Amino acid sequence: EAKLRRMPAPRPLVGKIALVTGGAGGIGAATAARLAEDGACIMLVDRDADRLREAAERLEKQAGADRVRMAVADVTREAEIEAAFTACAREFGGLDILVANAGIASSAALEATTTDLWRQNFAVLAEGYFLTARAAFTLMKRGNGGSIVFIGSKNGVAAATNAAAYASAKAASLHLARCLALEGAPFGIRVNTVNPDAVIKGSHIWDGAWRRERAGAHGIDDGAGLEAHYRDRSMLKREVLPEDVAQAVHFFASDLSAKSTGNMINVDAGNAQA
Ligand code: NAD
Repeated sequence: EAKLRRMPAPRPLVGKIALVTGGAGGIGAATAARLAEDGACIMLVDRDADRLREAAERLEKQAGADRVRMAVADVTREAEIEAAFTACAREFGGLDILVANAGIASSAALEATTTDLWRQNFAVLAEGYFLTARAAFTLMKRGNGGSIVFIGSKNGVAAATNAAAYASAKAASLHLARCLALEGAPFGIRVNTVNPDAVIKGSHIWDGAWRRERAGAHGIDDGAGLEAHYRDRSMLKREVLPEDVAQAVHFFASDLSAKSTGNMINVDAGNAQA
């Protein structure tokens, strides 16, 4: 028994290849770290070249240079996405896991929502997920199937104040995942969605106007009280961190969820409101 206890923890993703879009961001980097911890090779993809390099360097320190590659690509640009997936196949030999996570957020009441803003949200969060999933299907069909995990949002499940464009685009990707689950099943491709509630710590989305606008939407004067607002309205009274989202992604990415597809997990510390 003592011998058993000294055995290293199993690393179920050894030999698996994962591509994470938005891999330079808070949730993306935490997810990449979680998958790498279990042995996966990681292709980090992001449109922000500087931040991507820093994220790749951090991950290399954890996982070793052999298991980390990066590709600068904008998920709204078909050719850049195709090139990133081609690079993944060339560098690692295939693809087993896609985490479609690259995202933006915007907050505006309907009449203040410009057509450009609406299109921008759908370009990144709906079309971007479509383009990455399509590229993943091609590689996964060539291999042994795989697992695709979409990062959705609680705002894609329940109505959100002053965020119709963002929330509707998130709802679109949720339904895309369900359709792709049906289509991918015969090929051993599973597709699931993880819906975080507000993840403020580590997220660049909350650095910008989104923080002020969400504070306004929740009737909070300045952004400083926001963390407490989300924590206190949750059932568990706990803040959701990027690492918490990464655990749910890890579940869907790995064989722990081998019998689950077309499904979703909300990572929200228990919260019925959006
Ligand atoms: P983040 O800003 O820290 O990370 C997002 C990353 O995506 C950034 O590195 C950014 O450069 C990249 N990106 C944006 N547009 C891109 C594009 N067109 N092509 C390639 N890369 C692009 O934010 P985050 O909180 O880590 O968000 C990750 C995902 O989680 C997003 O899809 C977001 O909508 C979702 N989400 C976040 C929260 C939250 O509160 N943080 C809640 C629910 C859902």
